[in-house]
Amino acid sequence: MRDGHPWVFENSIREVNRQGIAGDVAVLFDRKNRFLAVGLFDPESPIRVRILSAESPAKIGVELFRTRLSEALELRRPLVDDPETTGLRILSGEGDRMPGLVLDQYGDGLVLKCYTPAWLPWLDELREAIGDRLPSRVLAYLPSRGVSSSAATPDPLRSPALLAGPPLDDGLEFLEGGLRYRAHPFVGHKTGFYLDQRENRARVRELARGQRVLNVFSYTGGFSLAAAAGGAPRVLSTDLSEPALREAERHFELNAGIEAVRSSAHESRTGDAFEVMEALDTAGDRFGMVVVDPPSFAREKGQEAGALRAYGKLTQLALKLLEPGGILVQASCTARIDAETFFLSVLNTARSADRSLEVLAQTGHPLDHPVRHPEGEYLKCLFGRVPTAS
Ligand code: SAH
Repeated sequence: MRDGHPWVFENSIREVNRQGIAGDVAVLFDRKNRFLAVGLFDPESPIRVRILSAESPAKIGVELFRTRLSEALELRRPLVDDPETTGLRILSGEGDRMPGLVLDQYGDGLVLKCYTPAWLPWLDELREAIGDRLPSRVLAYLPSRGVSSSAATPDPLRSPALLAGPPLDDGLEFLEGGLRYRAHPFVGHKTGFYLDQRENRARVRELARGQRVLNVFSYTGGFSLAAAAGGAPRVLSTDLSEPALREAERHFELNAGIEAVRSSAHESRTGDAFEVMEALDTAGDRFGMVVVDPPSFAREKGQEAGALRAYGKLTQLALKLLEPGGILVQASCTARIDAETFFLSVLNTARSADRSLEVLAQTGHPLDHPVRHPEGEYLKCLFGRVPTAS
């Protein structure tokens, strides 16, 4: 903890002077009774205390939240100052020393997502600090699955709610690199969009010119739109979710004012990624770029080997679909598999398939998803080119 780790597990606590409830302030002392840190107590979670401050006995409340928001905004200065990008993660939980809490900005809307009931008693203070630092038209509240089902969560906070602003029928519109995107906080994944892939989308946009692009696990077509804007004449999005693919179509309509997007032919196909890729291969379809960004394959301990096998299978399928000289973009958001293991496994799979990749880039977390502890590191993405003659 003295190295800045934000969690204190139940089994590392020797003595508690009284039993608290979720969200109580916990002050931690070492064996010699010296001050260690202050944090939020969570009696139901194995992560018994989440640390908010370890330097000094800071008072938890509006003032500290304002300070954390100011620090977070400062860290993100290049993004905050970019008028072409209005979608970004303002608070990234542990990475911004607000463990278990996420605040995302989408244009003039904000989405606050709580991953522990320990934050719930602090909602008023959070709203006050957010209102001071980031005035916005809309503020939406989202409980994580764990918060929704926790006995410690009061009934009204078990469901998503609009804390300020008009109903979100059309989602929240925002810009990324000048492209118009929409996030749907109440129906979508995360807070409605995968902000963490921003830099990878920008790279896809740079590399897609003239390529036929396949986007597997496309969700609402974030990578598809970026590819089209970068000059991909044909883009195919595929996902299990039909509503997500409809939203991908809408993203193309929303950006029809951009010549490259208007002239790109976008198609979508609903189905299981593995089956769709097999079918494309059988039909002889080939692509100049294949993007593979699946959901986490190992949420629980013990699932790592299975996840690596699934990644390997996806790499093999994608390689079969790539034209000579084509580009594989493969991402993993599985925290249980570290970046080195993932990159090596993709590269080894390619070598075994006789299509050794020329590595163009290996990327990690973007500026607005800072990491301060090992468990927080989840995102990695490899950009590799298959040989021109194979
Ligand atoms: N690449 C996306 C995020 C992907 S999230 C982006 O940048 O926005 C993972 C997506 O995988 C979800 O949309 C989910 O519907 C889809 N999915 C999950 N299992 C799938 C499967 N077996 N086949 C196809 N899609 C799947």
